[in-house]
Amino acid sequence: RELPGDTRTDAIPRQVFRACYSKVSPSVQVENPQLVAWSESVAELLDLDIKEFERPDFPLLFSGASPLVGGLSYAQCYGGHQFGTWAGQLGDGRAITLGELVNSKSQRWELQLKGAGKTPYSRFADGLAVLRSSIREFLCSEAIHSLGIPTTRALSLVTTGKYVTRDMFYDGNPKDEPGAVVCRVAQSFLRFGSFQLHASRGEEDLKIVKTLADYTIRHHFPHIENTSRSDSLFFPTGQENDSVVDLTSNKYAAWVVEIAERTASLIASWQGVGFTHGVMNTDNMSVLGLTIDYGPFGFLDAFDPSFTPNTTDLPGRRYCFANQPDVGLWNIAQFISTISSANLINEKEINYALERYGTKFMDDYQAIMTKKLGLPKYNKQLISKLLNNMAVDKVDYTNFFRLLSNIKADSTTPDEELLVPLKAVLLDIGQERREAWTSWVRIYIEELSGSGVSDEDRKASMNSVNPKFILRNYLCQSAIDAAEQGDFEEVRRLLKVIESPYDEQPGMEKYAQLPPAWACRPGVRMLSCSS
Ligand code: AMP
Ligand code: MG
Ligand code: MG
Repeated sequence: RELPGDTRTDAIPRQVFRACYSKVSPSVQVENPQLVAWSESVAELLDLDIKEFERPDFPLLFSGASPLVGGLSYAQCYGGHQFGTWAGQLGDGRAITLGELVNSKSQRWELQLKGAGKTPYSRFADGLAVLRSSIREFLCSEAIHSLGIPTTRALSLVTTGKYVTRDMFYDGNPKDEPGAVVCRVAQSFLRFGSFQLHASRGEEDLKIVKTLADYTIRHHFPHIENTSRSDSLFFPTGQENDSVVDLTSNKYAAWVVEIAERTASLIASWQGVGFTHGVMNTDNMSVLGLTIDYGPFGFLDAFDPSFTPNTTDLPGRRYCFANQPDVGLWNIAQFISTISSANLINEKEINYALERYGTKFMDDYQAIMTKKLGLPKYNKQLISKLLNNMAVDKVDYTNFFRLLSNIKADSTTPDEELLVPLKAVLLDIGQERREAWTSWVRIYIEELSGSGVSDEDRKASMNSVNPKFILRNYLCQSAIDAAEQGDFEEVRRLLKVIESPYDEQPGMEKYAQLPPAWACRPGVRMLSCSS
């Protein structure tokens, strides 16, 4: 390891200076730990035979109670902007990396336990995680991956058999909850905040920013290290000749541009499936452009641009659904300013990277929405009119697009039949709203007619981007309620369903249903950070 580390091995809370990580071992207490759920596709990434999940010592190893032989465990040191304010050192307060392994395809994977005990970064907290939030993280990691969106993964979820006290409850009373540990897997858990923290600590520590950037490029962006981006790119709004930005001459510039683009693509795909991260602090922004840290996230049910799953984010709604693209830009700007403060990129390169974020986001978002609607080309007016209609009538974001593929591109369809395919999502709408929708569908059909694509082909293409099954909060909650009673079957069933979100899955229709009335109870659609 060429990165500076903290040589102490205890978990006493402290400010860790001039180090990127601290050696620390899991200290979690267990009593008859149980394997709740596991991901076979993650096991495959690790060349792990799925029979290993049956090993009697699996829950001991993957709760952190028994050491993993050959691993060098540590917690990362990072900082971050929380809700727009610089928060100083944060770090892995309850995540401990067991080690890295290189698989038969030469891919490097890091295995990390979340909830396995205190680290030097635990501050006032206990380093533990409760079953409910661990189920959410486990399932959503795999749901987002199965939707085709970059994310950290989850290998396994085990209960510790011990109780953990959490106090941020709706009645204000502390409660004992079952403890659990998720084994997260990613090529790297480095965040924007991993770089920011060192830059925030003054001139001397800027060297660490460079060391960490070199490390990241070497291990995770080898194409930049080896070949560089060979295209000379032009700064689009620049007037003069000197606005040419040559990404071949500075690997750090090529690197920040790629991170800006990956972040833009990531957020465009979130918008496409209605995913709201909930806590887009810069310590929760992956340098690899992965979805990371599943806390109070939520998928849209009824379309609502101001949907904010995190009660801690009220009334400001900084991280509401519609703000995610802007927040991504704000976060990228913080990251870029860190890299620039270490003198690794110049003014022109900074502006270019910011510009690329915006362009890449718009390109991807427009392509995604065009495909969701099955349109021959992007049509801004048609799409904004649709989203407006959906917001007015609180139309389910997922089921609407899935049903939309049943519309026939036949301009002879009489008015009274136009909305039939959408019946199940246009609920309780009056005559005036029916007319608004009829006129929208009419224009939509007109737009489709010119495409020359058959109804059947369009439907297949639309269904490949419009999921039938998403991890709705109420589904997660049902699985949590059962698991807290000791029944893990629902978690496993739900995992199977969300592993194939674009398939019809006959017999599983109930998992595509709109939220039932009980889903309005506190803690189902909106959650606090208590986890
Ligand atoms: P988050 O809002 O999940 O990104 O967490 C912010 C910071 O709080 C991170 O540094 C976490 O590691 C830390 N943290 C959250 N929960 C705990 C906990 N139960 N014990 C220790 N640290 C925690
Ligand atoms: Mg976090
Ligand atoms: Mg978290």
